[in-house]
Amino acid sequence: MPASRKPGFAIRAAACADLGAVLAAARDRGVLGWVREGADRQSVLVHAEGKREAVQALIAFLGSEAQVQEVPAEGHEQFAVRGVSAGEFVVQEHAATAHHFDLRLEVDGVMRSWAVPKGPSLDPGVKRFAVQVEDHSMEHNSYEGGGGTRGVIVWDRGTYEQGGRVPWPEALDRGHAVFVLHGEKLRGGFALQRTRGGDKPQWLLIKRRDDDARPGSDITAERPESVASGQTLQDLLGAS
Ligand code: MN
Repeated sequence: MPASRKPGFAIRAAACADLGAVLAAARDRGVLGWVREGADRQSVLVHAEGKREAVQALIAFLGSEAQVQEVPAEGHEQFAVRGVSAGEFVVQEHAATAHHFDLRLEVDGVMRSWAVPKGPSLDPGVKRFAVQVEDHSMEHNSYEGGGGTRGVIVWDRGTYEQGGRVPWPEALDRGHAVFVLHGEKLRGGFALQRTRGGDKPQWLLIKRRDDDARPGSDITAERPESVASGQTLQDLLGAS
């Protein structure tokens, strides 16, 4: 099914409510969108869309104290909790036949992987070519080592949140996945967009425009060191 913008009634709301209760109430009513914890950790923020009666029933659930604002519908296909970790991510810098960075995201117990020749960027104007490669085990996330002309360092790591309007892993299957990284170097929203399928699917890795975006920056040059050991890939290769 194409990810088209759907007509419908949509609201954003801030309310004092329990996150799990809002999730259950939204799903009961067939409302789509998301809920996340507010910055004060007392309130929740809700994006709800769908049939007007269903959204209004959710507004009634949120209570008369809720601050509600009508917004354009976005075409969500799920009601999800935002701001929660979906698991680990790692970026390993890899000296092999060709130098590249491997971006890996934990999905259903394995690390989905993309080889990114130029590495990730925090500049939203930069689209980085990425080739999907075989899944890796989670045990490999902490691997660092090598010698001669080959080696791997843990260039960045942390947790990530799944985003977008489509549930994962379907979002990856459909070739458009949005996620938020909480790494030491990479932070904020990113998108992976598939441009070509086949045996070695081709994607673009793009930083989203948010508070963590840094136009004009070159994070792989600024921060070449391993977040595990502090050594650069050059240090590691030179040491052998
Ligand atoms: Mn690799």
